[in-house]
Amino acid sequence: MEKRFIYADNAATTRVSENVLKEMLPYFTEEYGNPSSIYKLGRNAGRAVETARERIAAVFGCLPREIYFTSGGSEADNWAVKGAAEKMAEKGKKHIITSAFEHHAVLHTCAYLEKKGFEVTYLPVGEKGIVTPEQVADAIRSDTGLVTIMYANNEIGTIMPIREIAHICREKGVLFHTDAVQAVGNVPINLKEQEIDMMSMSGHKIHALKGIGFLYVRSGVSLPNLIHGGAQERNRRAGTENVPAIVGLAKAVEEACADIGGKCARISKIRDRIIDGILEKTEASRLNGDREKRLAGNINISFLGVEGESLLLMLDLNGICASSGSACTSGALDPSHVLLSLGLPHEIAHGSLRFSIADPITDDDGDYIAEAVINSVNRIREMSPLWEDIKKGKPELLHLLKFVKSLN
Ligand SMILES: *Cc1c(COP(=O)(O)O)cnc(C)c1O
Repeated sequence: MEKRFIYADNAATTRVSENVLKEMLPYFTEEYGNPSSIYKLGRNAGRAVETARERIAAVFGCLPREIYFTSGGSEADNWAVKGAAEKMAEKGKKHIITSAFEHHAVLHTCAYLEKKGFEVTYLPVGEKGIVTPEQVADAIRSDTGLVTIMYANNEIGTIMPIREIAHICREKGVLFHTDAVQAVGNVPINLKEQEIDMMSMSGHKIHALKGIGFLYVRSGVSLPNLIHGGAQERNRRAGTENVPAIVGLAKAVEEACADIGGKCARISKIRDRIIDGILEKTEASRLNGDREKRLAGNINISFLGVEGESLLLMLDLNGICASSGSACTSGALDPSHVLLSLGLPHEIAHGSLRFSIADPITDDDGDYIAEAVINSVNRIREMSPLWEDIKKGKPELLHLLKFVKSLN
């Protein structure tokens, strides 16, 4: 096959869309005023920010003043969780419910709050990687002040029943936050209908700039100010607005949410073709995360006896950008907490690969990916001592086989 370049790591970041770029450009060199200035140049910039807020609110079914621009998903998650914790402590509540496989922006914030005296329940996500409404209902206590459950998981692409979870929280009078960074543009979101109190999103996962996103805070929810020093974002997050990024974010949100049904049908067909192609032709492999309740572009597969990093490098040589199931923390490779939360042993989590495909991917690109993966897995296994031991049937490795489809 002729070598191609295929970017299949859209869950890590995305290319800025042409239309987003076009809308942003005037705000760099022509409409560069400070939105707080009272002359026309400033007012133009101010109006652009408020128009962007209105456009975004229209897409998600909320009020413009409920949208607070942030530097992205991590900041929005930190603000929501720490802010809600501070407010609930004032009412004598100290219990937070989250899941074991949240993004680190939520998990590390929860760990920080535990040190400050809060109690956190980390709901297990089961083999399929889905948090159920029943789990949340059972975990809520009289001193629970916040439930934060991600809308869709960034590694295995599973989609949570957020409407049902939010409904339970609303009924029980507990604040509900969701990290919807991966869900935006993949599932239709109406904040009022879905009874969501706070929602984080990020621009660079939907073809806008890095360093921009927002936190939705339902009016009536009280959250402490994040940055002191100015009247921007209704006094809650001071600092001169990133006007071009905000304008681009509105365009990106509109584009991402314009034809969710059609786009997801198209992308998920290619996704399934890649998954089936790879699983059919590689032994001792497995798909991670629920097959149906899954983001259209997410593929996460583990291969026994393969190092994810070696696989990534080999795919890079084939012009394919993907991501592995490990995170490099302090120089050592730790298997992903998401894969471990599914109950996978380290050996299998280490041999995992995530593709996050998006337009303009084609069927041919999908076939190219599948073929490159199959060839690379075979080549790595030829050199893998672990794989050799598995094939020989070494007794201490047999427990690994129950996690993958059988050997040929
Ligand atoms: C990328 C991501 C974030 C972080 O967003 P940034 O804008 O990069 O800070 C948070 N949550 C999820 C689920 C993500 O995928």
